[in-house]
Amino acid sequence: MLKFTDYDIVFQEVPDEVSLALNLSRCPNNCVGCHSPQLRDDIGEELTEDALLQLLEKYGSSITCVCFMGGDGDPHEVARLARFVRNEKQLKTAWYSGRDKLVDVSLIPSFDYIKIGPYIPEKGPLKDENTNQRLYKIVNGEMQDITSRFWRKNSSLG
Ligand code: SF4
Repeated sequence: MLKFTDYDIVFQEVPDEVSLALNLSRCPNNCVGCHSPQLRDDIGEELTEDALLQLLEKYGSSITCVCFMGGDGDPHEVARLARFVRNEKQLKTAWYSGRDKLVDVSLIPSFDYIKIGPYIPEKGPLKDENTNQRLYKIVNGEMQDITSRFWRKNSSLG
């Protein structure tokens, strides 16, 4: 089961996409310097197909992507709901995992983008060139590393 605490329309998390970002709680990871420790708790509303549909009816015409932020406690449910989003609204799907590697390659086809990597303060987030995190674009089933899109000197994101 997944739960979400809040959501927002974001522009930076996935290059070239306007994303509805859903912050998922019940995070099983234990990143030192965790930026959102409350997301480790069992809080929020259950993320069901109905809850997603309500959000998609409200925001579906103004977004191009749904980004699941977290959900490492139940990655196959993240993938299932991502496929639901695709089927319902033909939107792209992204998943931000805090794991240091993908737990199951069978998850790949459910997403257009996958971010991998725990948050390590001294290495920084995706926009830091020293980051340990990676953002992959899924192209024909292959994971292409597009992390450099976040780095200012190479980035078109500004
Ligand atoms: S993945 Fe790491 S930084 Fe993100 S909520 Fe979980 S413990 Fe915190």
